[in-house]
Amino acid sequence: MKRRGFLEKLFAVALPGGVLGLLVKRAPARAEGYQPSAHYYGMGIQVDKCIGCGRCVEACKDENDVPREPFFFRTWVERYSIRRDGEASVHNIDPALEGPQETWGGGDVLRSFFVPKLCNQCDHPPCVQVCPVGATFTTEDGVILVDEKRCIGCRYCIQACPYGARYLNPVKEVADKCTFCYHRITKGLLPACVEVCPTQARIFGDMRSNASPLTRFRRMNKLHVLKGHLNTEPKVAYADLDGEVR
Ligand code: SF4
Ligand code: SF4
Repeated sequence: MKRRGFLEKLFAVALPGGVLGLLVKRAPARAEGYQPSAHYYGMGIQVDKCIGCGRCVEACKDENDVPREPFFFRTWVERYSIRRDGEASVHNIDPALEGPQETWGGGDVLRSFFVPKLCNQCDHPPCVQVCPVGATFTTEDGVILVDEKRCIGCRYCIQACPYGARYLNPVKEVADKCTFCYHRITKGLLPACVEVCPTQARIFGDMRSNASPLTRFRRMNKLHVLKGHLNTEPKVAYADLDGEVR
């Protein structure tokens, strides 16, 4: 973004509402009667069920108007190949290729697998802490969102996210990332990626509900989070996660 446009946008956000204006929460429209405080959302990933078909990536792009180029994404799937000498190679799968994608072959490969990734909807989100205009915020039901009208495109949040989960939308010139399809879940629907996954490798639910499939997933599996040492407290938890995954 050009310097002048950046400054104009910054002042447009900061001046009208003053400090109080920065504190107002700006969640998208929800279904009538929906009570955010009654929910707390999370996701589970059963790694050994992912076949790398990329349908989740495609569905996410369609649902959320993510630019088609392969380097823009709200969710992506990494292909890990671990060689006998301990070397690991990691590549994003290309969902434009048709059909299930084979894990990388070769005689010296010890094991290979796919790992779906997305914004971890952290309980302690560095992206929220660094935003200078309060455009990135946490909803009562635990989802991290970006207010497009406030975002000035400074990219601080993109740099602060330790998971590479954000990108700058080249058309809107604002930060963008996974929202758990907030516009869907607040109407009782599943996120698009979860709905299309043919193997149920992605499990979505309300962590405050005993009847949620996520609650069962969390009870039945030994769980790991990505980069747990950073204390970001992700709400995306993985089962069957290989120790090589970063
Ligand atoms: Fe923010 Fe990144 Fe955590 Fe998502 S994964 S909440 S973008 S720090
Ligand atoms: Fe906030 Fe990120 Fe937008 Fe900058 S780019 S205003 S840090 S959301």
